[in-house]
Amino acid sequence: MEMTKEAIKQVGDMKREHYAMIINGERVESSSGSTFETFNPAKGEVIATIAKANEEDAEKAVQAARQAFDHGKWRKYPVGKRARVLNKIAQIMRSRFDELVEMEVLNSGKSVGAAQVQINQSIEDFEFYAGAIVGHRGEVNNMPYGFFNYTHKEPVGVCAQIIPWNYPMMMAAWKIAPAIAAGCSVVIKPASLTPITAIILNEICHEAGVPEGVVNTVPGSGAVVGDYLVKHEDVNKVAFTGSTPTGKDIMEKASQTLKRITLELGGKSPNIVFEDADMEAAVAGSLFGIFFNTGQSCEARSRMFVHEDIYDEFMEKFIEKTQKLQTGNPFNKGTHLGSIISQEQLEVIDFYVQSAIEDGATIATGGKPMYPEGFEDGYWYEPTVITDVTPDMKVVQEEIFGPVVVVEKFKDEKEVIKRANDTKYGLGSAIWTKDQGRATRVAHQIQAGIVMVNSPFSAFPGTPFGGYKQSGFGRELTVETLDLYMEDKSVLSYYGPKPLNPFGV
Ligand code: NAD
Repeated sequence: MEMTKEAIKQVGDMKREHYAMIINGERVESSSGSTFETFNPAKGEVIATIAKANEEDAEKAVQAARQAFDHGKWRKYPVGKRARVLNKIAQIMRSRFDELVEMEVLNSGKSVGAAQVQINQSIEDFEFYAGAIVGHRGEVNNMPYGFFNYTHKEPVGVCAQIIPWNYPMMMAAWKIAPAIAAGCSVVIKPASLTPITAIILNEICHEAGVPEGVVNTVPGSGAVVGDYLVKHEDVNKVAFTGSTPTGKDIMEKASQTLKRITLELGGKSPNIVFEDADMEAAVAGSLFGIFFNTGQSCEARSRMFVHEDIYDEFMEKFIEKTQKLQTGNPFNKGTHLGSIISQEQLEVIDFYVQSAIEDGATIATGGKPMYPEGFEDGYWYEPTVITDVTPDMKVVQEEIFGPVVVVEKFKDEKEVIKRANDTKYGLGSAIWTKDQGRATRVAHQIQAGIVMVNSPFSAFPGTPFGGYKQSGFGRELTVETLDLYMEDKSVLSYYGPKPLNPFGV
């Protein structure tokens, strides 16, 4: 089939019937002509078709990125110039904020409030890395007299970036911003369920002045395109966000070429409410901690531990507020929970809830699919609270990735730390207490990359985000992330007055 090509100067209309992939600064159709449909999960209806990349297309994207890295100008730009382009990306995004929010809601079913927060953070990400890269530098190291040594930081090369569906734009921004700030080239593979805003972000990059080939987007199957990128000899690094099983598979395959990797994986994060917590703040924060983004967050606080002295009062308030949460039209400002991403994910959630019932747990509220008026064909699940659980239950041990929280009682600090750590994951965690000493003690003993103390929020640009244990490794969103897109080169020179002759011959 004829390849249709169109160099990207401007993004143009964001709402389209079809989205091409982006290779070497151009909108490109699949070499096989294949497309796939993408949905509005809130309504279960098709909203657009997407060019479906195959291995040949992935190869073209890698070669474009390789060419841009090896022979292009981006990495050679003065750092201030790269920073200006990142700021320009942020400016364009800000000027088209409402359209970006609309596209994110349409393709993910999330509530407009959640989408606004996430698009805003995506913009701030580019601004953050525009600032961070300007101050990022190597070091002059201590050496014996006559020798001079400095650490020269160089971009790592071509980066494959593979992202999930739960925060489509934000995950793309978390990946692209530090990589291009560092001078790398990128091939990004969005999740098949939510490719639209990553494609638009790539287009915005070109409108802002990112040269051709520096950012490329190849929507397609993880097993085909993702796998191809991970194994490719010309790809220097893989940055992956997604589930723990896929992360393990990627780590194994990337080891064949010893690629640099960062893995941001799943979680089963504890939310601990001590007896001295501010009750209103703890209820509100715990509610947000699990139900934001309809529970489809890697750091969702999905295992709640409540001290026995306040358990009854806390649970009464928590359940009452859970029942007040609004679902339905994601574009309504008052909507708290949008839809589930797909029918398949809805079935996964229901499978876990059913398993909890079979295992003898109690469904305190929710527990089934729902059909909001006007959205009956979409994928919706009631905000669900499960009590009377035991640590061995599937619903307690495994990531559900939906609006479902399990609640356990505890007696004392030592015991709850042990129980909170009783999981293979280690991403987020939250502590609710007025006792600063206890907060610090517990924070330092929790095996997780993120501890929120009396805070419903887990991340801002600048805070390290990433996991312990099987939640992965590497930190995103922070200054140090730049180092994960760079190599440290040691440059060692001799400046003594006499030539050296170490062999003495
Ligand atoms: P997933 O692992 O199924 O897919 C993630 C991405 O990997 C997709 O783009 C997919 O196409 C691709 N992929 C799938 N198989 C592949 C393979 N064999 N080789 C290469 N790529 C492959 O995850 P998902 O269902 O899209 O997302 C949900 C998961 O993501 C949850 O486990 C969640 O906790 C995790 N997540 C983690 C973070 C974090 O920062 N730690 C953030 C968001 C989501």
